[in-house]
Amino acid sequence: MSFSNLGLSAPLVKNIIAQQYEKPYPIQQQAIPAILQGKDVLGIAQTGSGKTASFALPILEKFQHTEPSRNRFVKALVLVPTRELAVQVKDVFHAFGTDLQRKVKTLAVFGGVSINPQMMQLQGTDVLVATPGRLLDLVESKAVHLSQVEVLVLDEADKMLNLGFKEEMDKIFALLPAKRQTILFSATLSNDVQSINEALLHNPVIIAIEAESISPEQINQVAYNIAPEKKGPFLRHLIKQGEWQQVLVFVSATRTADNVADKLNKNGIEAAAMHSKKSQGARTEVLQKFKKGKLRVLVATDLASRGIDIELLPYVINYDLPRSPKDYIHRIGRTGRAGATGEAISLITPEDQHHFKIIQKKMGKQVPIVNAEEIDF
Ligand code: AMP
Repeated sequence: MSFSNLGLSAPLVKNIIAQQYEKPYPIQQQAIPAILQGKDVLGIAQTGSGKTASFALPILEKFQHTEPSRNRFVKALVLVPTRELAVQVKDVFHAFGTDLQRKVKTLAVFGGVSINPQMMQLQGTDVLVATPGRLLDLVESKAVHLSQVEVLVLDEADKMLNLGFKEEMDKIFALLPAKRQTILFSATLSNDVQSINEALLHNPVIIAIEAESISPEQINQVAYNIAPEKKGPFLRHLIKQGEWQQVLVFVSATRTADNVADKLNKNGIEAAAMHSKKSQGARTEVLQKFKKGKLRVLVATDLASRGIDIELLPYVINYDLPRSPKDYIHRIGRTGRAGATGEAISLITPEDQHHFKIIQKKMGKQVPIVNAEEIDF
């Protein structure tokens, strides 16, 4: 199975090759032909499954055969929960959209930054990637019109609902034309997501990608049994001794994120915290720095980490174990992507031990456990 078999034309396939995608991921194999045929799609899939390309590619292809957008009437709307995801989705459209015969203008808009530049850039936008609140502000200011939207994509719909965007989403849905194509992606099929599916999608093609199937074999997982008060020093030891660069550390609380980052900095390891109490501006800045390899350690909570998508991220550390096995898989899925080798390290306190057994059972994989006491640090 290759990308050209899926109905994508030569210039797009050329861009796909330039991105070093060798063959389509399962979600792409299923979603691309369905979207090209104009069908609605319900995808149960997470970050890491390749979901972004699975809608970006067919949208770009479809728009090769249509007139460009008029004025401020966008033709495709991608709703996303966070600013980070908005930027990431826009980047995917840009990467695949270079040098196409019919240029497709894609813009990302989100709150937390000044609205004026976004208003000015909206003219002639074909694909608008937006967080719900900012989109409504722009609609109110008549900077964008939604009455000619041909394709609606809801990306990480469960996350949007969890972040409390239900009301905004309903307002947006009411502004869209009835005749359109709708694509919904969600990591889970909760009751709320199911009701959106029933209300908005018509006979959707349903694609479910198991979280487990995106936990690639290339991820080396290891866990260390450790006393809670030794976690900090041990983390510093691992990073220093292994000379690790670009390390993503997961913690369970905002305060821990700040503390861990502080301690790392005090010990000469450049680190920054990313959590929901940081402003959007600060979050984007830190993430950009981290992505460019200019920040050695990013300490993040789960919520803030959504949308972090860094190819070839070599190290992910669970400083605190996540509560659900799904989150564990989601976290470690951030390493070892796209054929790269990654390492996922978990620090296990005596209290976590039972829970870690459950995680391993759910994952269907045993993780080698080392006793940190036996290591000299
Ligand atoms: P996503 O689930 O859209 O966030 O994509 C996850 C990661 O997989 C991104 O880093 C993509 O660049 C990468 N990716 C998506 N599809 C492919 C593919 N067919 N081959 C190689 N890498 C891919």
